Amino acid sequence: MQMTDQNTQASSPTGWQTPSEGMIGAIGGTPLIRLREASDATGCAIYGKAEFMNPGGSVKDRAALAIILDAERRGTLRPGGTIVEGTAGNTGIGLTLVAKARGYRTIIVMPETQSREKIDFLRMIGADLRLVPAKPFRDPGNYVHVSRRLAEETENAVWANQFDNTANREGHRTTTAREIWSQLDGRVDAFTCACGTGGTLAGVAMGLGECAARDGRARPEIVLADPEGSGLYGWVKANDLSVSGSSITEGIGQSRVTGNLEGIAIDDAERIPDAEALEQIFALQDREGISLGGSAGINVAAAIRIAKRLGPGHRIVTILCDGGARYQSKLFNPAFLQGKGLPTPPWLD
Ligand code: PMP
Repeated sequence: MQMTDQNTQASSPTGWQTPSEGMIGAIGGTPLIRLREASDATGCAIYGKAEFMNPGGSVKDRAALAIILDAERRGTLRPGGTIVEGTAGNTGIGLTLVAKARGYRTIIVMPETQSREKIDFLRMIGADLRLVPAKPFRDPGNYVHVSRRLAEETENAVWANQFDNTANREGHRTTTAREIWSQLDGRVDAFTCACGTGGTLAGVAMGLGECAARDGRARPEIVLADPEGSGLYGWVKANDLSVSGSSITEGIGQSRVTGNLEGIAIDDAERIPDAEALEQIFALQDREGISLGGSAGINVAAAIRIAKRLGPGHRIVTILCDGGARYQSKLFNPAFLQGKGLPTPPWLD
């Protein structure tokens, strides 16, 4: 299936999608949810793209599909082949599910610090999972480097290389961005999200820019949402990648300019502490019935800051990357939160 087919589904006038061709056809075309409290409190319309509704439960299904289709087109991924990748978990889940649907296997390398739920799920769906100690990128034992070496050593294997493989951002340029544009009839003032690979931010920035140019509208402002412990906030603000602090969020934060981020115009950045992100996650769970993971909390908190800066009447879009069930043992575990000096959801206390 071509990536562009998904946009037809997203803009279905009835809101119902046409039957999808296998699980791959069910990737993308996600709802855009108006976040009620955030919108009402700021006088803006704040929307979250419900990426937790993808078949693999996260925004990374799109990147996984785009990377696999690209490798097939290039002829590097051949029948019966193996896809090897280093991941915080969600890309591994997306790759493994798409691989199952298309007759490949996966070897997934993951830092052992990631949530138990993602690790268990990867095992459950049949990934060949290799857990490694968490090491910085400059260390040869870092999960990304381990995955590259494994791909080189494995017969008939490709390395997905999500950080520097721009098929990742292409997936978002041709699907996520166009869906957002059509869901809001081209009225988008700002877009914000956090970066792991940067594929989502870069691809959506490129795609929204193209849609705006085509329709003769102003390009939406692009704002990076960054957790503590990531270098990208300093990079956007002062071209300085140095890192301080840490975050309990998973899958986001970056200490280098990845291939996906190269050449992308980012207008501004917000650095969001964990407590501010958790406040949004708990509020959305408790009062709007929307259960989210940590990176979505960073994103929503950044969208609220942007709304306050722009003033009432603006439309701000962000990404709801994955769901809370993936982090029950952390974000929704009072003992874990108390150990980090973070607030506990009132209904769990
Ligand atoms: N949120 C979560 C939960 C993720 O797993 C990831 C990907 N690692 C991201 C956000 C960031 O997405 P991207 O890689 O497109 O920057």
